[in-house]
Amino acid sequence: MAQPLAGKAVAEAVQREIVAELEQCSARAGRPPGLAVIKVGCDPASQTYVASKNKLAAKLGFHSRPVELPEHTSQAELLAAIGALNADPAIDGILLQLPLPKGFDATTVVDHISPDKDADGLHPFNQGLLALGRAVVFPCTPAGVLRIIDHYAIDPTGMDVVVVGRSILVGKPAAMMLSARHATVTLCHSQTRDLAGHVSRADLVVAAAGKPGMITADMVKPGAILIDVGINHVQSEADFLRYCDPRGLESFRQKGYAITGDIHPAACEKASAFTPVPGGVGLMTVTMLMVNTLRLYRKRLGL
Ligand code: NAD
Repeated sequence: MAQPLAGKAVAEAVQREIVAELEQCSARAGRPPGLAVIKVGCDPASQTYVASKNKLAAKLGFHSRPVELPEHTSQAELLAAIGALNADPAIDGILLQLPLPKGFDATTVVDHISPDKDADGLHPFNQGLLALGRAVVFPCTPAGVLRIIDHYAIDPTGMDVVVVGRSILVGKPAAMMLSARHATVTLCHSQTRDLAGHVSRADLVVAAAGKPGMITADMVKPGAILIDVGINHVQSEADFLRYCDPRGLESFRQKGYAITGDIHPAACEKASAFTPVPGGVGLMTVTMLMVNTLRLYRKRLGL
């Protein structure tokens, strides 16, 4: 029977570690870690993500600073807001919620965040440190993937690992982090010629393409470990029946939508272990943002 690798238990364990670490160092620091979460415009999905980040920061005892800017904010105004946070001594981590509304140059904006306050680990300086194996902060979602496999005592050393997707946010840093953990990593993407062939040789697959059910049962080696980063919204019943576990049909009909990953449920049945969607990697990302903020705080204060 394939083992589900639930994210909740891992996220809770990491949060307990954060609270314990904070108890030790915040008295010496004289202040809690400060996290600023910037949101521009009113995209509903971003609204939900930002709320969960601010809520967890407050729950863990961080100073949480929501920065909400209207849709018509200019790029110069956004850069000025980031500049003020870069200079603010109470702020250790800055997170810019992506995507930005149309008209912004996201690369320029992300580059403007001080690398010392880059809570998402996306600044080119921090991506460079990651490539060199000297990172202080790691992009949150792949960091969550690594924490999940560590929690469940899965050692990637020597494994053939296939990462599907090469974004700066997920796939590319996941590949670097797994390579640093001594896996033999193949990084696949939309131009990969024989995705099924690569996946079929993998001991561990990280799927991060944003394509529902794209890793099918026939691609997967029996007993492989399947880590599903994908978050896909399924709206029609035909798509639900194609990509999702049919046991959830009643719930789909009630809600009118379902969330599913990039790995087909039938593929998970062939695995030795898999992360469910929802309930797997998605629960880790916000917690790893707090880990990064705590690291930046400790580094800035020399704790
Ligand atoms: P992205 O669109 O930036 O990158 C997708 C990558 O997948 C690209 O590198 C592309 O080459 C590759 N790809 C697309 N189609 C492919 C195909 N048919 N075969 C092989 N590769 C293909 O997306 P992203 O930001 O990296 O996110 C990927 C998925 O992960 C999305 O579903 C997103 O919602 C999800 N995500 C989840 C979390 C989380 O907290 N769990 C966080 C970030 C992203």
